[in-house]
Amino acid sequence: MPSVTEILLSPGDILYRAGDPNDCGYIIESGEVVLYSNHIGERIDCERRGAGSIVGELSILTGRPRTVTVEAVTDCRIFKISAEQILNRFDKLDPVLRACIETSISFSARFSSYSSKGSTDVPFAQSTLRNADVLIKQFKFENDLLKGLDKGEFSLVYQPIVRLSDNGMAGFESLMRWRHPTRGQVAPDRFIEVAETMGSIGRITEFALTESCAALRRIRASHPSQSDLYASVNISGQDIDRPGFLDFLAHVLDLNDLDPCHLKLEVTETSLVPDSASTDANLKRLRAMGCGISIDDFGTGYSNLAYLKTLPLTALKIDRAFAGDAHANSVSRGIVRMLVALGKELGVDIIAEGLETPEDVKTLRGLGCRFAQGYHFLKPAPEAELVELISKGFGEHRKVA
Ligand code: C2E
Ligand code: CA
Ligand code: CA
Repeated sequence: MPSVTEILLSPGDILYRAGDPNDCGYIIESGEVVLYSNHIGERIDCERRGAGSIVGELSILTGRPRTVTVEAVTDCRIFKISAEQILNRFDKLDPVLRACIETSISFSARFSSYSSKGSTDVPFAQSTLRNADVLIKQFKFENDLLKGLDKGEFSLVYQPIVRLSDNGMAGFESLMRWRHPTRGQVAPDRFIEVAETMGSIGRITEFALTESCAALRRIRASHPSQSDLYASVNISGQDIDRPGFLDFLAHVLDLNDLDPCHLKLEVTETSLVPDSASTDANLKRLRAMGCGISIDDFGTGYSNLAYLKTLPLTALKIDRAFAGDAHANSVSRGIVRMLVALGKELGVDIIAEGLETPEDVKTLRGLGCRFAQGYHFLKPAPEAELVELISKGFGEHRKVA
């Protein structure tokens, strides 16, 4: 028995007629219909639609009566969707896309009446972008970002990842900087989000990998004692599924004479697509290559532990909201203690982020955390500054008081 939202039609049955009111749309689950109009008493078949197609959507979007009659060609099972359901989804569309559709609908409707009447009265477009000024700003920002990449406005700074056992440098995290000629320094949180939305994050990631691996090659060449030093590069969940990404990685490593164990990739849990077969397979391939995989900002996402357990991780990075707060706040301390235990259980390194004071360091060391980074050790710095510190012995194993 079909439900009230399902309609069964036999060949020749009419779903609705031209001129009927527009209270809903339909999805054809199975079968085929024909859409026709009547012009001076003559039937003109416009189109056939089959399973998976929608009918009746246009009159809902235009708010006008049905313009065609829909008749079943074969036995049909049709699912009814309310006007409200359609309009709700339409409202949630990307505003530019919505304005494109509204403009096209309004144009085709007006163009047919305009040309048939031979009128010289040019109609004004019905649709205008809501928040046009906000959107224009967004587009300008996106354009600036792409131009900035070509014009060399982007650079990387590096922050040591420190072994808490001896305060030596285990590796460094690469962090992107963008200095725009008029906008000034743009925060990475802001431009990374835009790059992810507009799909240009791949170029940012390739830039970060290329620069970081080249910097590591130079540091290793000038400081042969730093043979274990690694680069930790932020990537987006989108990168992992991008065709050619693994080949690109292998190429950059090869170009800089680096072993994959010299590279760790940081990805936030929220940017991974849980239970995506291709993400899981590519993470496994990355791990099989020998690259490290760190979950960034750990503790701030939904922390799907059952899912994390299935990933081939090598490190969890505890967000600075907990790590940098642990010495003063017993709840944060409890969370860090639990995450350190979890790291041991999963067999992965734990890296605490955002340590700013000697007390932070003491607390984290006391909680059994083995690696950390933060302003206490060094603010993210250009390569030359990092190299100078390494030359002065930062990278060495040192006695800890
Ligand atoms: P993140 O990966 O969690 O990076 C750590 C952020 O904390 C960095 O901010 C760093 O400068 C800051 N930080 C480090 N130590 C301390 C500290 O002791 N105290 C405080 N208050 N902050 C500290 P930054 O450089 O502004 O980067 C922000 C975010 O932008 C990064 O967060 C990362 O998600 C993203 N990002 C930066 N560079 C890249 C990149 O090359 N690729 C991608 N996909 N994302 C990037
Ligand atoms: Ca990071
Ligand atoms: Ca982080």
